[in-house]
Amino acid sequence: MTNALFADIILPLAVRGRFTYRIPDNIAEKVSPGTMVTVQFGGRKLYSGIVCSVHEKAPDVKKIRPVISVAEGTPLINASQLKLWLWISEYYLCSEGEVMKAAIPSEISLNNYKPRLETFINLSRKYSEGELNEILDKLKKAPRQQDILSAYIRLTGYTAETDILPISKSLLLSESHCSAGILETLTDKGILTSASQPVSRIPDTDSYKEPIKRLSEAQSVAFGSIKTQFLEKDIVLLHGVTSSGKTEIYIHLIEEQLKKGKQVLYMLPEIALTTQIILRLKRHFGGITGVYHSRFSDPEKVEIWKRIAEKDPLNSYRLILGVRSSLFLPFSNLGLIIVDEEHDGSYKQHDPAPRYHARDSAIMLAAMHNAKTILGSASPSIESYNNAVNGKYGLTELKERFGLIKLPTIILANTREAYRKKLMVSHFTPELLQSMDEALSKEEQIILFQNRRGFSPYIECSECGWIPVCIQCAVNLTYHKGIGKLVCHYCGYSTGMPSNCGNCHSTGMVTRGFGTEKIEDEIKIVFPAARVARMDQDTTRNKNSFNKIIRAFEERRIDILIGTQMISKGLDFENLTVVGILNADNLLNYPDFRAHERSFQLMEQVSGRAGRRQKQGKVVIQTSDPVNKIIRLVLRHDYIGMFRMQSGERIAFNYPPFSRMVKISIKHKDRTQLNFYSDILGRDLKEIFGKRVLGPESPVISQVQLWYIKTILIKIEREKPPAKAKQLIIEAIERLEKEKGASALKIAIDVDPY
Ligand code: ADP
Ligand code: ZN
Ligand code: ZN
Repeated sequence: MTNALFADIILPLAVRGRFTYRIPDNIAEKVSPGTMVTVQFGGRKLYSGIVCSVHEKAPDVKKIRPVISVAEGTPLINASQLKLWLWISEYYLCSEGEVMKAAIPSEISLNNYKPRLETFINLSRKYSEGELNEILDKLKKAPRQQDILSAYIRLTGYTAETDILPISKSLLLSESHCSAGILETLTDKGILTSASQPVSRIPDTDSYKEPIKRLSEAQSVAFGSIKTQFLEKDIVLLHGVTSSGKTEIYIHLIEEQLKKGKQVLYMLPEIALTTQIILRLKRHFGGITGVYHSRFSDPEKVEIWKRIAEKDPLNSYRLILGVRSSLFLPFSNLGLIIVDEEHDGSYKQHDPAPRYHARDSAIMLAAMHNAKTILGSASPSIESYNNAVNGKYGLTELKERFGLIKLPTIILANTREAYRKKLMVSHFTPELLQSMDEALSKEEQIILFQNRRGFSPYIECSECGWIPVCIQCAVNLTYHKGIGKLVCHYCGYSTGMPSNCGNCHSTGMVTRGFGTEKIEDEIKIVFPAARVARMDQDTTRNKNSFNKIIRAFEERRIDILIGTQMISKGLDFENLTVVGILNADNLLNYPDFRAHERSFQLMEQVSGRAGRRQKQGKVVIQTSDPVNKIIRLVLRHDYIGMFRMQSGERIAFNYPPFSRMVKISIKHKDRTQLNFYSDILGRDLKEIFGKRVLGPESPVISQVQLWYIKTILIKIEREKPPAKAKQLIIEAIERLEKEKGASALKIAIDVDPY
């Protein structure tokens, strides 16, 4: 008799730790690390879990439950994936189960994943051309049927010499403009046949492969420098000005890896960016290129997942373009990870746990595969540039644009002065309008950037100053004119536009401030002949809406594109010469220690869209504070100046990267109770960490969805390993959780908040 076997299993729960189950003999052969199993947990609930180890050590409990069933096939999760899950859970202080929930598409757990079926129509047998003409002739009296048959012949290019080819039923019907009923008559007659076939959910645009572009002199030097540094370092930061040709350098690095049979992960912060880059990649690397992001449906995600795990090199994806969650795909043989726009805040997941930073986790993932990481940016994060300066990362700099085009000229437009002199037209300064006029007259394109969606960020009673706020959050409601509603951008609550003040009942409700929707409205009035479009969260709810807008702009069917940060990064448009930043002030005034860094990056980034080809572009920044030090740095494209200034401030105030930060958010539905408990935790932590604890304090948004919020920040010394401090933090939270009544609290830990 063999010894009983046990499995330690990760369950998709917020509870830390793994759970041990007994493996019944009849399924023992199928259970190994990485397999998905079904087990019972708690009352009667069944869960799909992932086995991380199999052993003979019986746990010290009376009753141990059995594994109920095993998913068919090879292990779903490979060893390096499990390693990454564990690292994320330990570093970011969450459960492996929370990582699991973020990592795998929920439908992957279904044993029978069903392929998508599509109906195909075929000729029922091979007719000679003579016979076919005869049939066509006979169908003269049924012209609609004739249409279908002719369409079949035309679409498949049928001749008696070729093989008969099936064609998709929906395509045949749309091309022949006939109904399914008429087609049915032909299949009933036995002339055509109909059959279902499984098809890929991912459209295969395996296009003609172009050879990769030859690098310019400056690019070749950068490429060589990256490779030399890779001999000694695992991570290289590529700091190249906008349009210096970083993407082309990545493409050369990718090609080398693919030739070695390695996989490559190319990460981008924003789904909108995948649209253009995927085409650039597929043009060179064809069908082995896959893309992965949250807009895909679950079955599509499962298919991409399987294509990456696929061993057959002809059917597998070896180059993946994806957003942060692509880290969790089943890579087995990574050679290189590219983190483009590495400074971007979207790489950090805020809610729910795991609150991981995809750039930092990518570096860990690469290490697990013995792969290299390249971080790319025109304005690197202070963290990464600091790592490069002190030698932890390699550094390669590209200071010129491809084709030696100059960086755009930046014009500051003083809104305060323009308002005073009554020169503003709506929200536009004379400088901006003049630049736009010039561009439009030359049929060049324009981007206007405003980091707020909706029509106006709030409305106000002109009599008493009353402002409608969300019923669940401490947030002003944003007016959306298109749907005629006030909307909360934090919880989604919406309500009709009030005609009277809720306080004094006057009818003088007025809109304040401006979002992208209002800009769109007013630009259409100022430039009635221009073709105007808008790209923000509200206009890109459908899966393909990004593609449509970006394509239309590329094909010059749009003259002026208005958008939020979605349009600020990475996009490459040939004919775009003027960029307007409508309100730099609200970027700069955000209460966060990264606000200045971020506004520099954003302005530099959005400016970088202008004048990328033949001629130098122009950027107009509207601000009421033109002497602001960050704006002066943007004016000179002075990244190093910004880096020096910001690192000076952060050293002085002990902020990252010169300390590590952990943020604890505590929530309660009752404000007094929240104050009580957060004070307990604050005192406890101060006894351990002293002055390095900030708070508890109310964040800018102090209530969301009826939960009041307080935050505590802890700065941990950089020099010491963080594990010890994190353990002390966890213990303090556990002590709080044992207090009477503390179960009504929600506590979240955010390591390296961003
Ligand atoms: P970045 O990623 O630094 O913003 P890109 O790689 O997008 O820059 O390059 C900017 C533009 O210059 C793109 O349109 C790109 O196709 C073109 N380009 C860059 N390098 C080359 C090259 N070696 N040969 C031809 N075109 C290039
Ligand atoms: Zn709300
Ligand atoms: Zn009022």
